[in-house]
Amino acid sequence: MKNFEQQWSIDIPLDGLQVLRREHPEDTIIQIGDVRIGGECEPIVIAGPCSVENEEQILTIAQTVKQHGAKMLRGGAFKPRTNPHSFQGLGEEGLKLLQIAREETGLPIVTEVMDPRDIELVARYADVLQIGSRNMQNFPLLKTVGGIQKPVLLKRGMAATLEEFLLSAEYILSEGNPNVILCERGIRSFSDFSRNTLDLNIVPAIKHLSHLPIIVDPSHGTGLRELVNPMSLAALAAGADGLIIEVHSHPDESITDAFQTIGFEQFSQLMQTINHFIEWQKLHASTTTVY
Ligand code: PEP
Ligand code: MN
Repeated sequence: MKNFEQQWSIDIPLDGLQVLRREHPEDTIIQIGDVRIGGECEPIVIAGPCSVENEEQILTIAQTVKQHGAKMLRGGAFKPRTNPHSFQGLGEEGLKLLQIAREETGLPIVTEVMDPRDIELVARYADVLQIGSRNMQNFPLLKTVGGIQKPVLLKRGMAATLEEFLLSAEYILSEGNPNVILCERGIRSFSDFSRNTLDLNIVPAIKHLSHLPIIVDPSHGTGLRELVNPMSLAALAAGADGLIIEVHSHPDESITDAFQTIGFEQFSQLMQTINHFIEWQKLHASTTTVY
């Protein structure tokens, strides 16, 4: 362990950061209803479409992912789109549909908020507020979600270093909200075959340096549905506390992120493999902990 510490190439210069394990040795466990994320808890799966499209779509997906063992439902109502003329999400109407899906299935809702002015509205419907990659350093947004107690899913910026990622989490913690879940979602690199490069190195690095839970998004991390199952398993093997996965009843017809969205059959296979992996991990827990 000593060697590992000495060789560790990241040394965050600031003392006293709340986000660091050396200030807070115990793992933080985030509780959302009956769902617990972090520490020794079993890894959980958050699943759902990239965007909420209509009532039938979100209800069918919510019921199916629940049946296969997902613990929370994802779905964007406010979408960060590169092109201002692209579908921007259903807004409050989408939040209402998510609420119906929660009432029908009991699954807590994870949905993105992009604008500090929308936080009150989104927090009325969401169980977890997602801060997207493009907003990881939107400091007014970080400060505002830091001022409420709702759990936050903070996605890594697509060009953010580990240090910047942790300092963004620090913004939320230092405003008084300790309920932060980090999410690795791929970084931009020179890959000519995948949308992003899933940086799984960061999972054990974060576990070592911070007490916060970290989950992985293999959908945005790869951009290709063929890569979602193997990289999900890789993320769990690296020590991730969970996964967030884009799933749709008709993946090719998804309004957003169709290429990386998986269908029900693939999701069912993935959940079966994940369950086997978790069973295996329980038997070998002492040999799989790397941090
Ligand atoms: C999403 O989750 O649909 C999303 C837009 O993610 P990211 O911010 O990681 O691109
Ligand atoms: Mn998406």
